[in-house]
Amino acid sequence: MKNLVGIIVVIFISQITLLAQPTYQIEGEEVFGNEDVVFHKIDEHTWVGTGKAMSNESLYLVEGKDKSLLIDAGTNIKDLDIIIASISEKPVTLVATHVHPDHTGPSIDVFPELYINPADTVGIPQFMPNYKGEVKFLKDGEIFDLGSRKIEVVFTPGHTPGSTTFIDKAAKYGFSGDSFGSGNLLLTTNFSTLQNTCEKMSKVMADNGIAELYPGHFFGGNKETKKRVDDLEKISKEALSGELEGDENPQGFMGLNLLINRDGVRVNYSAHALK
Ligand SMILES: [Zn+2]
Repeated sequence: MKNLVGIIVVIFISQITLLAQPTYQIEGEEVFGNEDVVFHKIDEHTWVGTGKAMSNESLYLVEGKDKSLLIDAGTNIKDLDIIIASISEKPVTLVATHVHPDHTGPSIDVFPELYINPADTVGIPQFMPNYKGEVKFLKDGEIFDLGSRKIEVVFTPGHTPGSTTFIDKAAKYGFSGDSFGSGNLLLTTNFSTLQNTCEKMSKVMADNGIAELYPGHFFGGNKETKKRVDDLEKISKEALSGELEGDENPQGFMGLNLLINRDGVRVNYSAHALK
């Protein structure tokens, strides 16, 4: 089974790095760095970790007065719990934006529990087969109260059935994992799901004045915007109506052999996504 995970990981790396910017440039003080991960400060109580295994996979540490939330754990970062404790002394809860090995890789093993959208549990046997901790379920709309800081859960399926975005309404930003693609969306569900997700997120962003979402592969200049979300909604509509047709992309990852490249985002999908 370990070999299988290894093979999947290698496929992920080769596929994602093909499409990724080779370097990243994140502003903010570096507070930790080793061979697996570098953490930079976003603001006084928020940090981004940049993993070195799979196309700058991002981890976000969000601290309140009483507790911290770790949003994703990267791929295979040794002693991630100790690293996190060196940045925030608050007890930390691990939540996942989705079940893929660059976000819930073996780094999760040091955490006794992990919260995930129940719709992504179908991927657990494949992507986190060795996790011994307790898997807990997120609820759409639930709020993690960290003490003077609230993080709201918004289910944003599309990339995976259980993709999830975490919103800090007071700070006016969120963390969207791979929901909106970091510039390269792998649509493993379908366009109607993506269209609904974009409508939902566009409204959340408009209602709460949220300008940006930190993506699952953050390079410094590629935060998701409301415009990106609206563009993806339009692409979904046009793909469903047949107005917009993707190009053949035989190298496509996970059978996603069609590609739309428009509005600064690549959407990888298969014919199944049009049904
Ligand atoms: Zn993913």
